Amino acid sequence: MSQFLRPNIRAMAGYTPGEQPRDGEYIKLYTNEKPYPPSPRALDAMAELLRSDRLRKYPDPLGTAFRHSAGKLLNVDPDSILIGNGSDDILTILTRAFVPEGGLVVSPTPSYLLYATLADIQGARFEAVPFTNDWRLPTPWPKPDAHLTLVANPNSPTGTVVTNQALEGLAKELRGPLIVDEAYVDFAETHAVGLTRLSNVIVTRTLSKSYSLAGLRFGFAIAAPALVRELVKVKDSYNCDALSLAGAQAALEDQAYFQQTHAKIIATRARMSALLPKLGFDVLPSHANFIWATRTDRPVKPIFQELKNRKILVRYMNYAGHGDGLRISVGSEAEIDRLLDELQKLL
Ligand SMILES: *Cc1c(COP(=O)(O)O)cnc(C)c1O
Repeated sequence: MSQFLRPNIRAMAGYTPGEQPRDGEYIKLYTNEKPYPPSPRALDAMAELLRSDRLRKYPDPLGTAFRHSAGKLLNVDPDSILIGNGSDDILTILTRAFVPEGGLVVSPTPSYLLYATLADIQGARFEAVPFTNDWRLPTPWPKPDAHLTLVANPNSPTGTVVTNQALEGLAKELRGPLIVDEAYVDFAETHAVGLTRLSNVIVTRTLSKSYSLAGLRFGFAIAAPALVRELVKVKDSYNCDALSLAGAQAALEDQAYFQQTHAKIIATRARMSALLPKLGFDVLPSHANFIWATRTDRPVKPIFQELKNRKILVRYMNYAGHGDGLRISVGSEAEIDRLLDELQKLL
């Protein structure tokens, strides 16, 4: 049957999601989940939903109650919010909506590898624009004619940020939409939601990382209401289930709990940033919940492998034309103690 597939599907390799070991014996510092449990209020809301009659019925296709909560928190019109089954679903909707077959998708590199895969599925070309040496966006931007331009901010794997001023400059240079992927923005100091006043800027968010809900699958986009109305046509009618809508809304509303776990992450991140250099790693100042650790004195791949043998999973990444490194999630204090301990022994 594979002869009937579209040629671009046959030709593409497919995205490789982070390894998810099932045996529970690993310390997972690999896919940037928050090490603390989700908000107890989110768990209560979901338990209540399960006991009600609501799973029998279709959910609200637009997630109206969630959008009102998110709108209030972010100080935006609820009609400017589009719900998604994880922010990857949002990125898929945006690619389908904006990128024609044979079109062009562009993002800075090194960055989130899914962007290239989305272009592959769409039958579009993907081009990567290298960051400058000090992790800025090059000016002038060399690819202003892309059908879709994606900037992860904070960026993965580097944890670096570009300023809102730089993003605004880029948006104005572009002749197509700019997606600011804010998967990690809750760990940073600023965000770009205000830029959605520009007609070509769309901000995406997820509850997977900063709200400890990667298993629930919930994300959303913020864009001009007129654009959201168009994007609704492209999404699956019921792309978010009743359970995730209830959990996501309650999690967002529980800002007290969010702040509590957030403060712990920021403290552990500071500790990792201070101690990894003492073990010979070069680290960039991180505005996310992971650290990008590289080194010049010896290869990092064997370190990744040695850690894996010792039941600690970090992410080894190698980017053509840029080099390789370890992306290490900010875990709990105990997990990071173990990591630092094992690194000390093996280095
Ligand atoms: C994790 C991640 C996402 C996807 O998040 P989900 O909501 O879990 O789909 C999107 N963009 C970047 C840069 C990420 O790291």
